[in-house]
Amino acid sequence: MSGSEAGAAALHPETRLVHAGTMRSQFGETSEALFLTQGHVYDSAEQCEARFLNKDPGFQYARFSNPTVSMLEQRMAAFEGAEACRATATGMAAVTAVLMGLTRVGDHVVAAQALFGSCRYVVEDHLPRYGVESTLVDGTDIASWRKAVRPNTKVFFLESPSNPTLEVIDIAAVAALAREVGAFLVVDNVFATPLFQRPLTLGADVLVYSATKHIDGQGRCLGGLIVSSEDIIQTHIQTYLRQTGPAMSPFNAWVMLKALETLPLRVQRQAQSAAIIADWLAEQPGPSKVIFPGRKDHPQAEIIARQMSGPSTLIAFEVPGGKDAAFRLLNAMKLIRISNNLGDAKSLIVHPATTTHQRFTPEVRTAMGVTDGMVRLSIGLEHPDDLIADLAQALAA
Ligand SMILES: *Cc1c(COP(=O)(O)O)cnc(C)c1O
Repeated sequence: MSGSEAGAAALHPETRLVHAGTMRSQFGETSEALFLTQGHVYDSAEQCEARFLNKDPGFQYARFSNPTVSMLEQRMAAFEGAEACRATATGMAAVTAVLMGLTRVGDHVVAAQALFGSCRYVVEDHLPRYGVESTLVDGTDIASWRKAVRPNTKVFFLESPSNPTLEVIDIAAVAALAREVGAFLVVDNVFATPLFQRPLTLGADVLVYSATKHIDGQGRCLGGLIVSSEDIIQTHIQTYLRQTGPAMSPFNAWVMLKALETLPLRVQRQAQSAAIIADWLAEQPGPSKVIFPGRKDHPQAEIIARQMSGPSTLIAFEVPGGKDAAFRLLNAMKLIRISNNLGDAKSLIVHPATTTHQRFTPEVRTAMGVTDGMVRLSIGLEHPDDLIADLAQALAA
């Protein structure tokens, strides 16, 4: 079976993640090859000319495309059931390329305010430097999206569940409004993972991932992925990527390509453990406001049931006593380490108010739901009993 046959929608997603996009060299290798090459040689000057004219299929230069990177892109597109995917050096390179590619001076962007810190920087500070205005709204309130729309609104941008408050937005409702007003909907799907939420099927136009998180899943490489239609990629994003150079390294693409094979196993296990731990945390006398997309008491449980096929691997909760108490908890952890990464095989804990969301004023943080006592827990692949034991001893301390 060829790599493109293996991308067929008839095959199950797990099967596509193992086989789709595979291109074998003349050696017939089992495992996908790492083509660590900047460029390619041509049989003749005529062939070289034809390739630059896009009349001869093949590779030219790794800033444009590379066989290993292409395998990753095709595998991810096949998994999402999308026409096209492009890989970038980081998740932020993917977000920036999409937002810069879809807008020009005079355009307007509406975004949900509960965004990953760097995403919010790009929307709030970076785009306006180039004459692209932005409005931040309460993403869970569809009326506030509508109110923010202007005649020049070109893009809607959201993250769901959001980092770190795990707020969930009704993607189909925002997509319907975007279509009505002629805007593109871009969804950052990192916290849901590719496994549990399919924004393109809910009406989103472009999907972005930080592949650094669950897709690598073992804390090794940075990466980003843009998933969309061939038309949107070719019309709005391809030239920006090709000429400004946020390309993913072939080595990182190879790591991500192989990591996709085990993504469902890892994420399902991490989410199962997270569900057990969230329920346990909710029963403890200390922590309050345990937020987990798999729990019935999640503020948007009804939307989650409609648009997600699984929860997340992240839990947010509040420790009474603000920053001091949160720091005491983090410092008492033994197995679970303090780190701002997430989606890793290793369970990690972070205090968002002093790290990922430190840049914001206390008022903005409060509006985003990032309180001084809130901690974010990313559940890894350890046995859940060991993680509970670690949390129990740290909460007691
Ligand atoms: C980490 C993250 C990003 C940025 O990804 P990088 O790979 O670190 O550049 C964007 N959005 C969300 C939701 C993230 O968690």
